[in-house]
Amino acid sequence: MTANLEGKTCLVTGATSGIGKEIASGLVNLGADVVIVGRNGEKCKSVLEEIKERIGLRDGKVDISYLVADLSSQASIRQLAKEYANSHQRLDILVNNAGVFLSKRTTTIDGLESTFAVNHLAPFLLTNLLIEMIMASSPSRIITTSSVAHGGARIDFDDIEFKKRSYNGIMAYGQSKLANILFTKELARRIGGSEGGSGVAANCFHPGAVRTSLVQDNPWYYRLIWTVAGSFFLSPERGADTALFLASSSDVNRVTGGYFAKRKQVKPSKAADDEEAAIRLWNASEMMTSL
Ligand code: NAD
Repeated sequence: MTANLEGKTCLVTGATSGIGKEIASGLVNLGADVVIVGRNGEKCKSVLEEIKERIGLRDGKVDISYLVADLSSQASIRQLAKEYANSHQRLDILVNNAGVFLSKRTTTIDGLESTFAVNHLAPFLLTNLLIEMIMASSPSRIITTSSVAHGGARIDFDDIEFKKRSYNGIMAYGQSKLANILFTKELARRIGGSEGGSGVAANCFHPGAVRTSLVQDNPWYYRLIWTVAGSFFLSPERGADTALFLASSSDVNRVTGGYFAKRKQVKPSKAADDEEAAIRLWNASEMMTSL
């Protein structure tokens, strides 16, 4: 059953386009106060207006605002967490949704491989910086957008950043989406179950193949293939459905550490069930983010 989210405060990354915009819009529609995160203030403003217009805010009851952050920069993530904590009393639902697909290897301002930095290290750091507030707001939920693309991937602990082997965008993306699942499982283990534990449920999901701008920063042939294939893909609104289910349904009150698709908990790959790898990834991520 879907709950009314009135009185709940949510933070959604990657919310100025695609699946994230629909998650933010859906949360507002369910009555939550929503803070969207984007890199560009002007774009954030126009998305806020679009969501307000679409939903028709109910007498100022619902609050939607934005914070600007570049999730490829750890300084910017730390600033985001600080700004959020300074301006809000609680965080009931954190949605780690921002992500990139990059066909060519690039590095961030911190000198880290960009796919791993944005898709995994950013959710890892942001969640850890906000975890006390999330726990104090319990029952609360942490939702991370993973992908079926994790299947077949493994974390190469000797070369997470593709410094030794040649970079492959599909492998880097798969590795980062596998990291989302391992992170979710290890986070759930550390904070304790939603029942009798911390009251914080951490779950992740595959949204389906969704018509978005995920490959926009890549050569034309990637964009062409994506556009052609896109006619068979889901709309962003449908892509947001499982995230909204995880954010609001009482069916998942007692579920944590799960990987979902089409509103159902599904078994991820064998590599995503590797508890030792999850701990190793957590330790490596702590080092890479200086936590
Ligand atoms: P999208 O490109 O529309 O959305 C990605 C969002 O992340 C954008 O709003 C972008 O601005 C933001 N982002 C990227 N880099 C950022 C940075 N450095 N700082 C701040 N924000 C940044 O694509 P999407 O498909 O909606 O992607 C959302 C999530 O869904 C991603 O995590 C992606 O891996 C995942 N996903 C998508 C599909 C699909 O078929 N589209 C399938 C499985 C998983």
